[in-house]
Amino acid sequence: MRKPIIAGNWKMNMTPSQGAALINEMKPLVADAKCDVVVCVPYVDIPAAAEALKGSNIGLGAQNMNFEPKGAFTGEISADMLKELGVQYVIIGHSERRAYYAETDETVNKKVKAALDAGFTPIVCVGESLEQREAGGWEKLIADQAKAALDGVCPMCVTKVVIAYEPIWAIGTGKTASDEQANEAIAIIRKAVSEVYGEKAEELRIQYGGSMNAKNAQGLMAQEQIDGGLIGGASLKAPDFSVIVAAASATVK
Ligand code: PEP
Repeated sequence: MRKPIIAGNWKMNMTPSQGAALINEMKPLVADAKCDVVVCVPYVDIPAAAEALKGSNIGLGAQNMNFEPKGAFTGEISADMLKELGVQYVIIGHSERRAYYAETDETVNKKVKAALDAGFTPIVCVGESLEQREAGGWEKLIADQAKAALDGVCPMCVTKVVIAYEPIWAIGTGKTASDEQANEAIAIIRKAVSEVYGEKAEELRIQYGGSMNAKNAQGLMAQEQIDGGLIGGASLKAPDFSVIVAAASATVK
């Protein structure tokens, strides 16, 4: 049984004080969660978020990191910097970073390895655009993205990774993949991982992400292959986020 994981991706929203207030509102609402609960906050929010999260069951995540340990990389943040602040999770290769900040399968792979070396749980995003889905071949594309992200990761480490299947056409658009579409895509990713890692792929957690919300979470979470969600917009509202967490918790026997 894979433990579901619901992670909020705040993106470039919430100042440190707003973020702390959101966490304080969220804490009692998710205190009984049977799934893992995480908030991935902007870098500058991390200290305030860490303080607000103390003693709670919510994990702390960042939204990106550099793969280099240190050096002349102006504006960048290393794993050690995040670790010292109590970060446990890091989103890697979000489609917005691939689209706007030249993230590639190669940099994603380097970041996954650096994150694992630091002891973080990487949440690695893969997914196709609408054009890619309509043109055909999207199945191979997401399989290849997942394999590239994990290239060279040791079998013992691979189950520490979380993959988020996020069809780009569903992110921030209000257009969710259907339960069946999401389940099918995640099964494709799991099969691709099993070609390299065998049965370990059954332990790997694969989330769905893309306009997941309080209304559609139950249907998505009921799918056999879906092990949680990466939540953008709905993670900025504590009541909505907590309904999604409850939907994931309800699948835990
Ligand atoms: C995301 O950015 O990872 C995401 C899934 O966003 P939204 O839920 O807003 O579509």
